[in-house]
Amino acid sequence: MTMKSGMSKIIEPFALAHVGLVVGDAGGTVLPDMTVLVGAHGRIERVSPSFGTPVPDEYRYLDGTGKYVMPGLINAHTHLFSQGRPLDPRMATPKGQRIIAAMVHSPVGKPYVNAVAKASVRTLLESGVTTIRTLGDIGYEAVALRDAIAANEMVGPRILASGPLMAIPDGHGAPLIALEGRTPQESRLHTRTNIEHGVDAIKIAATGGVTDSQVRGEAGSPQMTIEQMRAICDEAHNAGLIVAAHAQSAEGVRRALKAGVDTIEHGSRLDDELIELLRHNPNALRGYSALVPTLSAGFPLHAFSRDVTGITEIQAENSKLVVDGMINGTRAAHDAGIPVGIGTDTAMTFVTQYNTWRELALLVKFAGFTPAEAIHAATAVNARILNVGASTGSLEEGKAADMVVLDANPLESLATLAHPALVVAAGHPVWHPHAKRFDDIDRLLDEAMERE
Ligand SMILES: [Zn+2]
Repeated sequence: MTMKSGMSKIIEPFALAHVGLVVGDAGGTVLPDMTVLVGAHGRIERVSPSFGTPVPDEYRYLDGTGKYVMPGLINAHTHLFSQGRPLDPRMATPKGQRIIAAMVHSPVGKPYVNAVAKASVRTLLESGVTTIRTLGDIGYEAVALRDAIAANEMVGPRILASGPLMAIPDGHGAPLIALEGRTPQESRLHTRTNIEHGVDAIKIAATGGVTDSQVRGEAGSPQMTIEQMRAICDEAHNAGLIVAAHAQSAEGVRRALKAGVDTIEHGSRLDDELIELLRHNPNALRGYSALVPTLSAGFPLHAFSRDVTGITEIQAENSKLVVDGMINGTRAAHDAGIPVGIGTDTAMTFVTQYNTWRELALLVKFAGFTPAEAIHAATAVNARILNVGASTGSLEEGKAADMVVLDANPLESLATLAHPALVVAAGHPVWHPHAKRFDDIDRLLDEAMERE
């Protein structure tokens, strides 16, 4: 780890005393009147009942009376290239996309890309997210931010960075955030390129998406062959990295799982064969695969009127198919005990960088989760899926002090998560967190949630 002199921040040790501790287990355990001690190294030193936990003199004392603390949120599916406001419809066309892609990939565009990514990461942090995985970047801007945060040059969430995703020529994500490969060998080399740039995760576009579709029922048609995806998985797994696949149809999910991907992003209806493949996947890095549904990305396109979304009638119909499939698949995975993680697909249309909590609310409303199970998914389950369970995902001695302090019990109202009182990332407190919000988007989301 590089430390530039004068830039490293020393953490003041602190005690959060007399706080209600939301454990983050699936059963919804809350331990009353607890004290959490955080050391200068940014890790949790002790979590125990306040009456038996003296606070050393040199520790800053924070009175948590009446407040709740829980593990910081983990968002397993983010992009950093936009704040989530819908694009001008002229720019949402294939030609507009090529113009934007050419701009952001040029030397002139690079400072802009870096600035937007930095702002996105800050917004995620201010909204209580202390770990993110990016799944499709313009270049290696997320890798650079990860290193700056790890070197204490800035405060931010732990970043697992993917770099650009793997697609077929003109496939999903191309040309903005993809390396386009025609053959297994080309995609293998692209995967190596990403690994040489220091990425933590690999992303594949296994199928098309809603906004690519020109034909009814074709939103998730398979784009990449099993052989091509297997070449990518081989390279990634050899480097110890997990692979995520964008897959929005049952056939796409099947091919991706057979190739060995570790997480299915978005998903579809899941039959018994697919559930079994998730549970026991011999080609996956750890012998199983998980589902990260991202209802937040599908819900607005399906629930907002077309005047608001600006999508075509066919895209609207396909988005209904995709959202129904996603909800159905999430329910089936949840019922079968398959790990289901939390991701929102930030930077997509209407998916802001600060609304991670809404994914929890969507899982409760549509997919049969209890609030405790949704919080569990966003913390411990996500940490396990992303291979960071040893350092985060729960408030335990020796783990990073990644936590959110709230004015009310989130198990009683998940909306409390929208306004954290304090966010702590690896021991760095963010006092008075306040993400910049888009009131119009929030109003549309609130209304749609009421209506559906
Ligand atoms: Zn995505």
